[in-house]
Amino acid sequence: MIKKRKLCKLANIGYNLLKVGACIAICFDAMCFGNIILNHSGDKRFYKSLFYQDAKLETGGNEILVILHDFSDEKAYIVKQSIREIDYLSANLNYVFADEQYIETDQVLNIYNNCDLSNISAAGVCVSRFDQMTASIKYPLTIKLERGLVNMVDEYDNNVTLLSAVTTHEVMHTLGFNDLRTDKWLGKSIMYWNIDDSSDNGVNKLTESDKQAIIDKYGPSTEEIEKE
Ligand SMILES: [Zn+2]
Repeated sequence: MIKKRKLCKLANIGYNLLKVGACIAICFDAMCFGNIILNHSGDKRFYKSLFYQDAKLETGGNEILVILHDFSDEKAYIVKQSIREIDYLSANLNYVFADEQYIETDQVLNIYNNCDLSNISAAGVCVSRFDQMTASIKYPLTIKLERGLVNMVDEYDNNVTLLSAVTTHEVMHTLGFNDLRTDKWLGKSIMYWNIDDSSDNGVNKLTESDKQAIIDKYGPSTEEIEKE
C-alpha cells in the first residue's frame, strides 16, 4: 500500500505539538494559535492577524538569502527552480542563494533536506513567527523537507517532482499563504493541503490562480505600474 503523503497535516495536530514548535504549515508563535484554529476551515488564501489583516512577509527592499542544507546538486537545482518561479512573479521578493558562512543578516530562508518528519506524516514543515500587530511574518524562515522527496508527480511534465511541489507549497507558506482545505480549492491551487489528492486532480505546481495571487500580493504596486 502506498503511504499517503500530505503536504501539511494541520487537522489532527494537538495543542501540545504546536507548543513544542513541531507545527506543520507555518508554525506561528504562541500568540498565534488561536489564528490557526480561526483559519482552520482552510478557505481563505492568507493567514489572518487578530485584526483580520492578511499575513505578509516584509522584505524592506532587501534580498532574502536562501541557504540550502544537505542538498545534492540535482535536488538543489529543483528547489532553486521552484523559488525562482516565485521570485519572477513578484516584484518585491528578491531571493538570492547563498552559502552559510557569508550570512550577516537574519533575512534568511533556511531549507533543510532529508529531515525525518515521519512523526507528523507531513512532506514539509514551515516555521516562522508572526507579528499580530503588523500582520508581518518574521525572519528567519525555516523549511524542513521530508527525506527522499524527489519522485515525479506528473507523468507528462518531467520538471514537476514531489520535491518541487512541496518546496513551492512551503515557500508559499512563508509568504503568508494558508493551507486550503475545502473541496472548492481541490485542483485549483498548490496550497491544497493534500499532495496526493492534488496530484490526482492535476495540480502539483503553481496554478494560474496561485500566480495571480502572488502578483496581487507581492507584485509591483499600482504606482510602479503607472510609472512604466
Ligand atoms: Zn501546508
